[in-house]
Amino acid sequence: MSNEDKSRAAGQAAGYCWAPYKGGKARCTRSPHEYKRHVDHYTGRQGVTDMKGIEWTG
Ligand SMILES: [Zn+2]
Repeated sequence: MSNEDKSRAAGQAAGYCWAPYKGGKARCTRSPHEYKRHVDHYTGRQGVTDMKGIEWTG
């Protein structure tokens, strides 16, 4: 099992959608969802008070 596979498995085990963001290292940290709007709440924040970082659709 590659590190990539382990990372994916860990994220999904934690209850995240975990869809990869093609423009960087972000992954969706929402609960699994149907609509195509993903959010990484940790990656890409401008400051510690920001509620979320990168958002993307795909
Ligand atoms: Zn998502």
